[in-house]
Amino acid sequence: MKIGIMGGTFDPIHIGHLLLGEFAYEDFGLDEIWFLPNGNPPHKKAEDMKDALRHRIEMVRRAIQNIPYFKICLHEANESLHSYTYKTMQELNELYPEDDFYFILGADSLFTIEHWRYFEEIFPTCTILAAMRDDKDIEDMRMQINYLKQIYGAKIQLLQAPLLEISSTVIRKRAAKGLSVHFMVPDAVDEYIKENRLYVTKGKNKNGFR
Ligand code: ATP
Ligand code: MG
Repeated sequence: MKIGIMGGTFDPIHIGHLLLGEFAYEDFGLDEIWFLPNGNPPHKKAEDMKDALRHRIEMVRRAIQNIPYFKICLHEANESLHSYTYKTMQELNELYPEDDFYFILGADSLFTIEHWRYFEEIFPTCTILAAMRDDKDIEDMRMQINYLKQIYGAKIQLLQAPLLEISSTVIRKRAAKGLSVHFMVPDAVDEYIKENRLYVTKGKNKNGFR
């Protein structure tokens, strides 16, 4: 199978993430897209984090529940330590030797990837699908792709998807103010945020990530 990996914090998952997954699935003829919630950052308080992780996972589950080719992958979420992308990809290759992996990446990351820990180890494990915003910056991206191909033998393809001006940060901020996040997240996620009063500022927890 051809499997797309869409990693993220997903705090919360929003339609920008889902659209990227959908375009990767369609345009590259993938069989499944696996949403891979990151584990918790090491500097956050353990108790708060357990809850945050539980909520992040549950929101991904609800967002993808009716889409048979979207799955959740808990490989990083189950780790107690911070996971490196190269390591996750190596492990997924070992666990699923028959499958081919396609790692979905935002355009910005393509230009900073050389700063990632052991980034060279990523290239043999997958094809990178680099998402770009319509025709903007296409020349810069082509140059960067060619550079990474030549120097590291990376397999990289352009993924053309509508990148929306939506981020989890904006969603958390709006929810904290009691504003609607309707249409930015699937209905089931909207309901979950409301039911659980996620991101609502209370006492010392002012930063949304709870
Ligand atoms: P935050 O605001 O908390 O940083 P985020 O919206 O950037 O959250 P992440 O979970 O950090 O979401 O992102 C996971 C992946 O989704 C990244 O590769 C990122 O480039 C991509 N992504 C985020 N927002 C969008 C969007 N609006 N359209 C397309 N891709 C997006
Ligand atoms: Mg982000």
